Amino acid sequence: QAKERGRNNFQVFSPVMDSKLKERVAIEASLRDALEKSRIEVHYQPLIDIETRRVVTLEALVRWKDPEEGYISPTRFIPIAEETGLIVPLGDFVLQRVISDMASWRKQGSVLVPVAVNVSAAQLQRASLRARIEELTRASDLSPSMLQIELTESAMFEQQDSRQDDSGTDEVSELRTLGVRVAIDDFGTGYSSLSYLKRWRVDCLKIDRSFIRDLVTDTNDHAIVAAILAMAQHLRIKVIAEGVETWSQLEALRRLGCRYAQGYLFAEPGSAARARDFLNGHRIGLPDVETDLLKVA
Ligand code: C2E
Ligand code: MG
Ligand code: MG
Ligand code: MG
Repeated sequence: QAKERGRNNFQVFSPVMDSKLKERVAIEASLRDALEKSRIEVHYQPLIDIETRRVVTLEALVRWKDPEEGYISPTRFIPIAEETGLIVPLGDFVLQRVISDMASWRKQGSVLVPVAVNVSAAQLQRASLRARIEELTRASDLSPSMLQIELTESAMFEQQDSRQDDSGTDEVSELRTLGVRVAIDDFGTGYSSLSYLKRWRVDCLKIDRSFIRDLVTDTNDHAIVAAILAMAQHLRIKVIAEGVETWSQLEALRRLGCRYAQGYLFAEPGSAARARDFLNGHRIGLPDVETDLLKVA
């Protein structure tokens, strides 16, 4: 990557790079346009307590609805938004939408659960994130503790590098002081150093779905998940398994003592209206035959 080789180095553009660059520029322009034309939506996916089958958190997942292409996956546009700085207005839009959805769910009589928002490193490096969360939650009379931010391990490390200022404090600690919960997303796929778990208190670890996929058949994955659970238990950090799609994965997780899960087995991400159904005292409907699997041993 040209960027990695330093800004002052010249790069010879191959046709492949050229077409990638063109796609990047095109996506950047139409994403900017989409933000202005309100084609950005926020969907929600529940995180489930396996024991009680209750929804404990909703994860907000951004969606770009293009009139021609339909829904464009965030895996396609988030990296570009991060590179171009568009992630800042995009992230702010998501935050505003989440707060306003929570306010309207409450107004409609639903009991709220915390909502998890994915936050990129570039958003975290702007000290204004905390001020913005304070401002938006206060304006809607919501407690900041009803918000959780999901950070990847690399985002956690980048702020470690960038904000060692005189105050001796950093964004994550300040957000936690405000009451915002912090989750590590895609845990196990980033940096291998666990030192940040010592430096920052985090509330939960989300085990990346690449460890869950073959959990039942791959003894290495099984060992890794078991080790994460053991470590987190000692550190008193909650663990959520991502990407749970099958009953046998759920059963394996239950046996390992994993209490929380998220995945298509329970529910796919859905609109704010659908999310309200999850909130309304609704336990995730699991067929009777299978619920035995969920009984606490
Ligand atoms: P993530 O934060 O790890 O979110 C989980 C992703 O896994 C979501 O993909 C979700 O739809 C998908 N998923 C959930 N259950 C299952 C399952 O059982 N099987 C499989 N195969 N997938 C499952 P999505 O919505 O496409 O988002 C992809 C990524 O984009 C997110 O990964 C997150 O890193 C990023 N992202 C999404 N929304 C935002 C946002 O508002 N801001 C930022 N900065 N990043 C976002
Ligand atoms: Mg996430
Ligand atoms: Mg994840
Ligand atoms: Mg992910």
